[in-house]
Amino acid sequence: MSLKKQYINGEWVEAISGNTRDIINPFNQEMIATVPEGDELDARAAITAARTAFDNGEWASTPATERGSIVRNIAELIIRDKEELARLESLDTGKTVEESRGDMDDIAGVFRYYADLADKDGGELIASPVPNSISRVVREPVGVCGQITPWNYPLLQASWKLAPALATGNTLVMKPSEITPLTTIKVFELMEEAGVPAGVANLVLGAGHTVGAELAENVDVDLISFTGGIVTGKKIMQAASVNVKKLALELGGKNPNIIFADADFETAVDQALNGVFFHAGQICSAGTRLIVEESIHDEFVNALVQRVNKFKLGSGFDEETQMGPLISAEHLAKVEEYVETGIKEGATLAVGGSRPNEPELQNGFFFLPTIFTDCTTDMSIVQDEAFGPVITVERFRTEQEAVKLANDSIYGLAGGVWTSDIVKAERCVAKMRMGTVWINDYNLYFPHAPWGGFKQSGIGRELGRLGIEEYTETKHIYQNLKPEPIKWF
Ligand code: NAD
Repeated sequence: MSLKKQYINGEWVEAISGNTRDIINPFNQEMIATVPEGDELDARAAITAARTAFDNGEWASTPATERGSIVRNIAELIIRDKEELARLESLDTGKTVEESRGDMDDIAGVFRYYADLADKDGGELIASPVPNSISRVVREPVGVCGQITPWNYPLLQASWKLAPALATGNTLVMKPSEITPLTTIKVFELMEEAGVPAGVANLVLGAGHTVGAELAENVDVDLISFTGGIVTGKKIMQAASVNVKKLALELGGKNPNIIFADADFETAVDQALNGVFFHAGQICSAGTRLIVEESIHDEFVNALVQRVNKFKLGSGFDEETQMGPLISAEHLAKVEEYVETGIKEGATLAVGGSRPNEPELQNGFFFLPTIFTDCTTDMSIVQDEAFGPVITVERFRTEQEAVKLANDSIYGLAGGVWTSDIVKAERCVAKMRMGTVWINDYNLYFPHAPWGGFKQSGIGRELGRLGIEEYTETKHIYQNLKPEPIKWF
């Protein structure tokens, strides 16, 4: 594939250093593209472009309706090029092309949602307690936004940041994950075609410790929005303190999925599997901690294992494939280490636990779907994010115990409750400390509802109305209609 470039101040450019990086297909380790490897210098050039574009005020003062229609154009272009984008995403991440097609529909939906919201906030009149005055509140763009995305849902995560930032009149510099930049590059081409002015949206490619760190610490960046791991999130928080940047952090999760004995058994089994093994468990909200009521525990685990044994692993482009590879050799090694830890900690390996034997999978970063039983909350495999196709199963006897187990985590991103007793479900949900809780469903999200974490799963929200508010500052404007001397001094 031809050399893709960075997009800075409306120009497609190489890295200033001339360095490049090869992008690898995780299914067979073939090289699929070579891209520029930017560093701090490229990041600074992009920040300067975004700063200049913001300070000249043209984008922020473009009528909100017009900004909205440009954001809507992006959605339409994504749908026009959906098949190309979906295939690119699957090549880059290994996920099935069917899943990538669904992602593209969701991504277009995010751009449409924020296009529609762009001109809906005309501010607010306050009932001023002072006679002869007008008191109003308006929302303005924050300024220059640094946006850093992970590799698991490269374009979806990018859309959650790009669409609200553009709709509200900010300028931005985006840094995608260095291992999955291809669909983000393509969408910057589409944003140019859609009419986003030069300098407003800039794209820098490169590593986290160079480009990402520069975005986090540069004083010309007003807001940093980051999606990724907790360790990186903490570094970004620290770096962002240099100019008290606004922070939006979407971090990891270790998400409990509680299965009561009165749940619809087949549906709960089916969705428990889907909630984890979709995209090989590389989902921040994956329901990897199954918490199952004692009376159905053995039957439930047996049903899971039977289904898992029939899983078809393979190329994301093969229609029969249900689970693709992990993203990289490094990530595969981490998942293997996590599984070894589980065995050492005394958990029982019910199925999986190794790489598959099939000769046709040996060049890819595959790992078998894995289930551990006899897990307890003092085990690190129950507390740490595996970010791979691994389920841990815990058991409970009472509703109180189930909720206590579910909350025993530093994370608070998402969780699920399966039961036919809706009153019981509501009692549990009220006590579960997570940003999203599903009742009799799992992993469902849409642009209209906010997404984000309690506890160490993050700060702030993406999607929904809250997702656009992250990109605005609130200004109170007070006008005295009858100024008079105070005559104090
Ligand atoms: P990561 O933290 O390693 O990297 C994420 C991004 O940060 C990449 O672009 C990387 O280059 C950059 N980065 C790395 N070091 C940096 C630094 N010092 N300064 C600035 N940027 C830096 O995460 P990952 O492995 O790409 O993604 C997996 C993680 O993302 C998981 O923990 C997952 O739970 C989380 N995630 C969360 C959500 C959510 O919505 N909460 C969504 C997707 C993924």
